[in-house]
Amino acid sequence: MQEAALRAAGLEGSYRALETPPPFLRARLQEIRRDYAGVNVTIPHKESVLAYLDELSPEARAIGAVNTIVCDRQRLIGYNTDAPGFISSLDEAGIPYRNKKALVLGAGGAARAIAYALKEEGAHVAVYNRTLERAQALCKALGLHLVSAPLLDAAVHSCDLLINTTSVGLQDPLSSPLPEGCLPRAGAVVDIIYNPPVTRLMLEAQRAGLPTLGGLPMLVWQGALAFELWTGVKADLRVMYQAAQARLAEALQP
Ligand code: NAP
Repeated sequence: MQEAALRAAGLEGSYRALETPPPFLRARLQEIRRDYAGVNVTIPHKESVLAYLDELSPEARAIGAVNTIVCDRQRLIGYNTDAPGFISSLDEAGIPYRNKKALVLGAGGAARAIAYALKEEGAHVAVYNRTLERAQALCKALGLHLVSAPLLDAAVHSCDLLINTTSVGLQDPLSSPLPEGCLPRAGAVVDIIYNPPVTRLMLEAQRAGLPTLGGLPMLVWQGALAFELWTGVKADLRVMYQAAQARLAEALQP
């Protein structure tokens, strides 16, 4: 997706995975400072990387997680494009969120970015997570409503927007973060997992006649925003979508 965007913009460059076990994070960042225009950061470094950066965008600081680093004259600047990328994916799909009741399932790095973005945009955000303490910490940090296990059913039923940010369902079309039949009465269901493109949660929501959105649009939008931070050039979204869809189709082949 990033290399397709580089080609479309007539820029030279490549985008590669740099496997980085946690003990090597500091050394990897020194290498990045010397040799790279920028990088994305993913599990498990999105939060721990903050300690090694020279500067943070206001969003990254508030969220407490970085998914994009720009190297500017050997300074490392951290951003979070998951947050605006998620909002752009809702806008593109025509899913409303301002003044709506949003329920976020999960309390990891993606949940932090999404809950922050929704709150900034005027949604009423609640969080449920398997590990209550993690949800409590997120709610305290960002001023959100906490949903405990006994109240989950009611919170799901009454929300306008349900977002799965847990990894339940990732590469597994049979598992869902919610028990069967536990769905919003009338709200939209978003699953930020992009492989499989339709998760079990989405399938159940579709069968109940609810609007759904998968994780590919967020992936493409956060990538396009990162591309623009690294290059200063507008990303070609159509080309990025095509490349991401082609790669996913390959990955899904038996
Ligand atoms: P993370 O920080 O590791 O958080 C994982 C979350 O999933 C935690 O809330 C965890 O709960 C929950 N979880 C894991 N296994 C569970 C289980 N068996 N039952 C219930 N809850 C479980 O990961 P992340 O970075 O937030 O990413 C989460 C997901 O979002 C991944 O699937 C990732 O691929 C996807 N993602 C998509 C995009 C996109 O652009 N579409 C961007 C970022 C992430 P506990 O706290 O209880 O462990």
